[in-house]
Amino acid sequence: MPAHHPVTWSAQSSLRPALARPVARPSTVAKLQSSREPGLTEKRRNELCALQAILGFVSAFWMRACLLSVLIAAAAVTKAQTVCIDPGHPSEVGVGTHGKRATEVGVDWVVGAALKARLEKEGLKVVMTKQSQPEVVKNRRRAEIANEAHADLMIRLHCDASNGSGYTVYYPAKAGTVKGFTGPSEDVMQSSGVAAKRVLAAMRGVLDGHLHADPLKTDAQTFIGGKQGGALTGSIFSKVPVVLVEMVVLTNPKDEAFITSKEGQSLMVEALAKGVLAALGK
Ligand SMILES: [Zn+2]
Repeated sequence: MPAHHPVTWSAQSSLRPALARPVARPSTVAKLQSSREPGLTEKRRNELCALQAILGFVSAFWMRACLLSVLIAAAAVTKAQTVCIDPGHPSEVGVGTHGKRATEVGVDWVVGAALKARLEKEGLKVVMTKQSQPEVVKNRRRAEIANEAHADLMIRLHCDASNGSGYTVYYPAKAGTVKGFTGPSEDVMQSSGVAAKRVLAAMRGVLDGHLHADPLKTDAQTFIGGKQGGALTGSIFSKVPVVLVEMVVLTNPKDEAFITSKEGQSLMVEALAKGVLAALGK
């Protein structure tokens, strides 16, 4: 209808300058700033300038906050530490000792499994050197499992046979040699020494008054460690900090009663967990 023509034409002509403008869209603030509204005073422009500065700061702050949260999340992922629990025996040195009722291989396994569950509750990754109580794993292989897992700590669980009582923490302070292989490295010995001190101190915090603590000892003070020049086989092949705990003297009836009781076993698991956490700096 002819009456509409002027309107259509007018609308088209008003679009032309808009189409000719650059495609990039100015921000709302910039648009307002460049606006030539007659009512826009100098004061208003200054206010808009300030608003733009604030928005710029807020957006930079927001980006920094985003970046920071990404970095924190990445740190949390890399922070998950790994512990290798090595329940002793059966290995090339046999099935270990026994008490009147309990066997070392049984106690090592039961405590090891409970320690695994306890440490996983702390958010730690736990690797076991064996998957069932009777599984035979040689001591070299036990160390290799910890190495392959890049464990932050390998904790080896055993029970002693002697006339004494209580628990003893061992670490390699001197390299040893077995089948032509010498180890561990200076680094491993140093970190194992630090870990062992922390493990013993934390265990004492739980077990003092319940079970006797021996002073810290080195692999060289064990029968096999002494025979191999100063280190146990599991330490010689270890590329990660390694600590061995003789949890009780199983041939001592009092110690056997302690470690086979529900309360004693819980105390031992808690002591070992606190020891591991302390060794990891937690
Ligand atoms: Zn043993």
